[in-house]
Order: sequence, then C-alpha cells, then structure tokens
Amino acid sequence: MTTRAHPLYATMKPTIFEHMSGLARTHDAINLGQGFPDEPPHPDMIAAAARALAEKSNQYPPAFGLPELRDAICKFYARRQGLTLTREHVIVTSGATEALAAAILALVGPGDEVILFQPAYDSYAPMVQRAGGIPVSIALSPPDWRYDAGGLAAAITPGTRVLILNDPLNPAGTVASEAELAMIADICVRHDLFAICDEVWEDVRFDGTPHRSLMSVPGMAERAVKIGSAGKIFGLTGWKAGWLCAAPALATALGRAHQFLTFTTPPALQWAVAEGLDHPDAWFAAQREGWAASRAHLRDALEMEGFVVLPNAATWFLCIDLAASGIALSDREFSERAVREAGVASIPVSALFEGNGPRHILRLCFAKDGAMLDEAVARLAAFRDKLRSEN
Ligand code: PMP
Ligand code: GLN
Repeated sequence: MTTRAHPLYATMKPTIFEHMSGLARTHDAINLGQGFPDEPPHPDMIAAAARALAEKSNQYPPAFGLPELRDAICKFYARRQGLTLTREHVIVTSGATEALAAAILALVGPGDEVILFQPAYDSYAPMVQRAGGIPVSIALSPPDWRYDAGGLAAAITPGTRVLILNDPLNPAGTVASEAELAMIADICVRHDLFAICDEVWEDVRFDGTPHRSLMSVPGMAERAVKIGSAGKIFGLTGWKAGWLCAAPALATALGRAHQFLTFTTPPALQWAVAEGLDHPDAWFAAQREGWAASRAHLRDALEMEGFVVLPNAATWFLCIDLAASGIALSDREFSERAVREAGVASIPVSALFEGNGPRHILRLCFAKDGAMLDEAVARLAAFRDKLRSEN
C-alpha cells in the first residue's frame, strides 16, 4: 500500500504494545505484554465517574483542565512528594502520551537535539522527529540500567535543547538514585536544557521510598516538565487522563500546544480522578499491596522454574534475562514465537531500543491474578523446554 502521508508515518509500524496485544487476541494468549492490570477496577473510582457522568456537565471543560482536578494534583504532589505547585503549574491532558506530545511540540524545534535514554517509551523519538528535532540516544545497560555522567556529558552539544528522563524507568522498573538525579540536574543547568520528566510510574513503587521528582532538584523548577498519568496511579489505563506540571509561564505555553492536540479531556473522568487523588494514603497503600503481592507471585513462580529475573523497584513489570534462563533465542524471536506457540504475550525490551541494545531481556506484566500468572509461567517453562529439546 503506498500513500502520500508524511514519510515518518507512511512506513511506521504499529507500536510493540499494540502489535503484541493484537497477537494475544488472535492467538487467545495470556497477555503479559502491554501494561494494564486485569483485576476489576476499584469500585470507588467507577462510582465517582458514574456519578460525574450523571450529575456534572458533559460539555467541554476548560482547556487546561477542571480547576478542581488541577488543585487535587497539586495537593497530591504536596502530600506525597513535598512539591509546592499551584493550579497555574498544571495542565490536564488526555494521558501522559498527549502530555509528552505537547511538551515535545512546544519545546523542540527544527535541528534541536534531544537526549533520550534507551530503553525509551516508544513515542519519544517519533515525536521529536516530527517536531523537526534530532533524537540523541544513550543506551543504558542491564541489569542495573544506571545513568553514567561521562556518557551523558559526551552526548551534549551546543545544539542540545531538551533531555527526556523516564523515572521510574519502563520497562526496567529501576529508579534513579539521588546522586543520578543530582548529576542529571547539574548537566541540565550547566547546558541550559529543559527536562521532560516522564514520571508516570511515580506511584507504582515497591521500595517504600517516596518518589523524588527531578523537578524538585535545585535548579530544575524553571526547566522541568513533570508528566503524570491517572492510568498508572489508579490502574485505569483506558481512561487516558494525565497531566503536565511546569513553572506557570512554561505551563501556559505547553497548554497552547495541548489546546490543538486534544483541547480537553472527558470531564467525568477528570472529576473522578480529582476525587481519587484525594483518597487517604491508606487507600493507595492497599492498592499498592495488591500489586506487590502479584509482583512477588510472578517473581517466585518464574524463579521456581529457573528463570532469571532482573532486580527492580517499580512499575507493573518484571524483566527476565533470557540467555541466563537457558533460552538462546533473541527477545524478539522468543516473544513472537511464545505468543503463537505457547499462548503467552510479552514485550521484547529490544523493541524499546533503536539499533544496538541488549537482545536478551523480556518484559512481563504482573498486574494479573495469581492463577493467570501461574498458567503463564507454566506455559513459558514448557516452551523453554521444547526449545531446548529442538537443539
Ligand atoms: N510513559 C511511559 C513511560 C509509560 O509507561 C506510559 C504508559 N505505559 C506512558 C508514558 C503513557 O501513559 P498514558 O497511558 O497516560 O498515555
Ligand atoms: N506504556 C504501556 C506499556 O508499557 C503501553 C502504552 C501503549 O500501549 N501505548 O505497556
């Protein structure tokens, strides 16, 4: 099929998440690929959205978001992360993906270089390219995926304008240390860079440590754009309600980019997220305990079968080292075959690298019930044994 669409899109493939979920549907596989929880949503959230649909306006809300939600986001971050934000810092968006697009369109111009760390969420590089910018990728290495000051400094040129940091990091589930945040902030200040801080996993942490935003590091308040997602905070990925936070003048400019992307976000979901963010800490802790139990369940089941699981502290994902687990196939070959032949969908981490990256790391989503996780691990183990017997 030929088309005169922009060449970036004319040849673009579906995202790895869409690809694997499509294969999972076709092959009726257990879907541990795309990240979404399988348990029923929290009834409080559904009740709040239903009440808002019935009782509140269903017409366009303000472009920058319901004031009540913008205030609730400020209160949530004050309470949980010690940030001091006002309503003027916050723009509500249709998910973090839209917030990223608005931030990139507003900050990146033709020829601007943008530092990305790989593995990278798949929208970053294409959005930078569409804005006319040049993605400059720095590869992180398993199993620790640490940030290296020398590598970062070497990637900066007079044309560097923006750095994108995803912390906690999807797919690895690792968290930047205080020293790494200080090092990254120092480079942003010294080279006068904006930092787009994709912190959608900020509240899905299992190390008992409150999230520390790059925005809160000295020197960053005026140059950071902090992005969050209700999809992750409440395990409601289909809601596509997110936001960005930045110093007020910057937030207003980013809001202008947002006004011609989606303009606004469904009001009932905004009301429900505002109510949800107001829940006491114990409510969030209970939700997190449920995810932590599933995380431990999948890790134990995988290790019992001899799979080598990488250390991590956040996200709904565990990564396994295929080579160390006795699997010679690349992550891509393994995941393409496992969904068809074993009935388990996964994400090959190499899909989140451009060019050279590790090809032996597979990401699995654990936010599922125990029986489903057990069945998936049994299938993966049987498939690994079958692969061994083929050799
Ligand atoms: N950034 C990262 C790192 C993500 O993992 C995701 C979703 N998994 C997003 C952005 C997008 O979030 P949303 O669904 O709110 O657009
Ligand atoms: N970021 C989600 C994940 O890591 C997927 C988002 C999407 O499918 N666009 O699974």
